[in-house]
Amino acid sequence: MLSDLEMLLKLQVIDYDLGELERSKEYIPDMMDNLRKEIQDTMEKYDTTEKELSEARVSLKSMELEVKTKNEELKKLQGQMMSIKTNKEYDALISQIDSVKEYVSERETAILDLMQKIEEMEGGIDDYKSKSEETKEQNDKQLAILQEKMDSVGSKIDVKEAERNNIIEKVSRRTMSVYERVRKNRGGDVVVPARKRACGACYKALPPHLIQEIKRGDRIITCDNCGRMLIWVNGESD
Ligand SMILES: [Zn+2]
Repeated sequence: MLSDLEMLLKLQVIDYDLGELERSKEYIPDMMDNLRKEIQDTMEKYDTTEKELSEARVSLKSMELEVKTKNEELKKLQGQMMSIKTNKEYDALISQIDSVKEYVSERETAILDLMQKIEEMEGGIDDYKSKSEETKEQNDKQLAILQEKMDSVGSKIDVKEAERNNIIEKVSRRTMSVYERVRKNRGGDVVVPARKRACGACYKALPPHLIQEIKRGDRIITCDNCGRMLIWVNGESD
């Protein structure tokens, strides 16, 4: 095989790596944002539930206190029954007692509902807490790894660029300009194996004499459809 093609095969591996490194500059910060957001969301879930729980406990206490006061009021009213003189007084007192009883019963139902809600929150809060701590621990680890990657992208690109320049020097200018043009216009690999008597990239069929030339490899053969350089790879091409 021509040494230019051998060099280009190495070059396109480097170019692939360079493309990945450039892409990682975009997706690593996105991944990091998602990990941070997940930490924040689980922490917020825990904080909100904890706040709701403590508010519910305060409100339960005040409701219980209120019911206690109302029950004392009820006792007093019931005590007044003994000193009732007239039917009118009796009716008025009964109606007062009934309304306090009704109020107490309503509050007691509300207390039971709230107690159930508190119980549910108490059951969930430990899960939220451990979930939040676990998420933070795991995501922080991943964030550290990603940060390290992000920090080293620049120097990795420098290394690859240096390798790239090294290779370019060894390839003829004309071949290099074909490589750069196809890479820019088509993307992906520029040097591709012939496959099943066709271009391995665009599948355009290759005439037999070109296949013979690709096999010989004494000049660079390009696909007349996509412009990529074709090589013969035993086992893959035949
Ligand atoms: Zn092609």
